[in-house]
Amino acid sequence: MLELVNIHTYYGNIQALKGVCLEVNEGEIVTLIGANGAGKSTTLMSICGIVPPRSGEIRFQGRPIHHLSANRIVAQGICQVPEGRRIFPHLSVLENLDMGAFLRADAHGIKADLEYVFELFPILAQRRHQPGGTLSGGEQQMLAVSRALMARPRLLLLDEPSLGLAPLVVKQIFEILRVINQKNGTTLFLVEQNANLALKIAHRGYVLENGRITLSDSADHLMVNEAVRKAYLGL
Ligand code: ATP
Repeated sequence: MLELVNIHTYYGNIQALKGVCLEVNEGEIVTLIGANGAGKSTTLMSICGIVPPRSGEIRFQGRPIHHLSANRIVAQGICQVPEGRRIFPHLSVLENLDMGAFLRADAHGIKADLEYVFELFPILAQRRHQPGGTLSGGEQQMLAVSRALMARPRLLLLDEPSLGLAPLVVKQIFEILRVINQKNGTTLFLVEQNANLALKIAHRGYVLENGRITLSDSADHLMVNEAVRKAYLGL
């Protein structure tokens, strides 16, 4: 579904990605793990067209997308849940969700998806008229995931969904991510520092170090890999 071929991405003179190659197949949950500053967020931003690669190719469903603008990439069916959630704090929960459906015109489909996200996260239904900024951190993350789902993406990109949240909330959100993948068939590409959690729900994973992919395997194999256990699982 998604292929990154030899991606080099820069911020001015600083090279953040140094020949990244990876792929995500339809229906999978794939995770990219790595330390602070490894280039995980940059990988997502390159896919989304926010920080386009200087060289290499990104293909989505067989077609190159690395030259497209961010809004055209969303229109292809790729949506990102950004690090730090970035919900609209002064808009209500409902208005935030409407923003997720900005590019859609199918009123019936939008209504059905609204009901679906309220089923996934009933707390959002209860808080539908409350400004997003007054929600707890966990509720804001639920809103950020739901807002992305309102675009009805084929591929959902998630940047550190566990960041700054209490363990119980994180567990709840990760369980929902699994449901979104299994029930909805949405493909997930998940960037996480919490490798333990990410590998538990993923089918496959990649390890990113200093802008380079250094390991790629099934999540089960990565979880028992000695180097991964030492560097990322704290074992
Ligand atoms: P974290 O887990 O801390 O979010 P990350 O793996 O997502 O880290 P990136 O944020 O992608 O890492 O950063 C990769 C490299 O690019 C780092 O060396 C970082 O300092 C650099 N970088 C990121 N954003 C910018 C920017 N806007 N300007 C210059 N350098 C940047």
